[in-house]
Amino acid sequence: MSDIVLKNITKRFGKSVAVDNLNLTIADGDFITLLGPSGCGKTTTLRMIAGLETPTEGEIWIDGKCVFSAEKGINVPPSKRDVGFLFQNYALWPHMTVYQNISFGLENMKWPKDRIRKKVDELLKMLKIEEFEKRYPSELSGGQQQRVAIARTLATEPKVLFMDEPLSNLDAKLRMDMRTELKRLHLETRSTFVYVTHDQLEAMTLSTKICLMKKGLLQQYAPPLTVYHSPANMFTADFVGNPSINLIEGVGSNINLDEIKIQVGDLNMLFCPESNSVSLSGNHKIVLGIRPEYVNIEADSALQASIYSTLPSGMETIVKIQLGDLILTSVVFQGKDFNVGETVGVEFTGERCVLFDAETEDYLA
Ligand code: ATP
Repeated sequence: MSDIVLKNITKRFGKSVAVDNLNLTIADGDFITLLGPSGCGKTTTLRMIAGLETPTEGEIWIDGKCVFSAEKGINVPPSKRDVGFLFQNYALWPHMTVYQNISFGLENMKWPKDRIRKKVDELLKMLKIEEFEKRYPSELSGGQQQRVAIARTLATEPKVLFMDEPLSNLDAKLRMDMRTELKRLHLETRSTFVYVTHDQLEAMTLSTKICLMKKGLLQQYAPPLTVYHSPANMFTADFVGNPSINLIEGVGSNINLDEIKIQVGDLNMLFCPESNSVSLSGNHKIVLGIRPEYVNIEADSALQASIYSTLPSGMETIVKIQLGDLILTSVVFQGKDFNVGETVGVEFTGERCVLFDAETEDYLA
């Protein structure tokens, strides 16, 4: 078991707080992404778990062992934490062949030659780089180099693999291919992956759980689809999903426990929350969140809107529709398109709407 537990971890650089009282449990075999905007504390968090940065306060446990405690003065060095690293500039040793790059760590660990050969062969095959074993890094493409770097990191069989934006130097197509490879690799190795990215799509598609941060503070720690459908607050709702969620200001009040009357712009609608514990008295200021795929353009809907703009991309078309004073984003599939100014009917998939408190920006229902 190699669970990672962070207890009240804080990191200050001078007076500024990079990570603020973070509590996190990463289960053995999870693929966690640390996600959030630039400067939110992702890299600092990763480096603290790996032992490359010293927290100001708190404790870190790996595999049932305390590897850091500010109070008890424990600080186990990275080399003793049984972890591997893969960073953005994954510099391979230029004077070594692919084989030598991958086998280097194992030779240091004094593995017998035939066992090293077997392990490297296994990795060359897994990462589909068998044909390059005698080449030098300068004779490889960026994507091939990245595969060698992954093989080199996996060779010593670390229980935990840390990756900081490892795909950011690759072009869009290669990134996509490497995402698939990383996900397969995670399943094959069953190691724990801790991955830093600011790319919400990468986090959504790769991870078992997303740790979404803002200004050093944890916003939500949950599986990707939970973050997507039940965001903890407006920030998380807005940060994941592309095109972004529609956020519409309005007022709401309970009719009874199961129904909330909402008024946004000129529209009145009924909202039935998943949990019936929300009670809004008077005209409570709310923000209604609707993902674009649940804004449906329906020919026979009584609610009429006009097409403001369309962005067709073949598979999907992102459509902006004007509904009174509101401009909403919708997404339609299968190559459908519309004319600007055209009148269309609109419907919302009510059970997919979420409600936030306009003041606190917290999830209500
Ligand atoms: P990015 O996506 O831009 O890499 P990040 O979320 O990984 O950002 P961190 O690198 O963890 O953010 O930085 C968090 C905060 O701590 C930032 O405000 C940054 O300026 C600050 N910081 C990081 N390292 C240091 C340092 N060595 N000295 C002073 N401040 C630092």
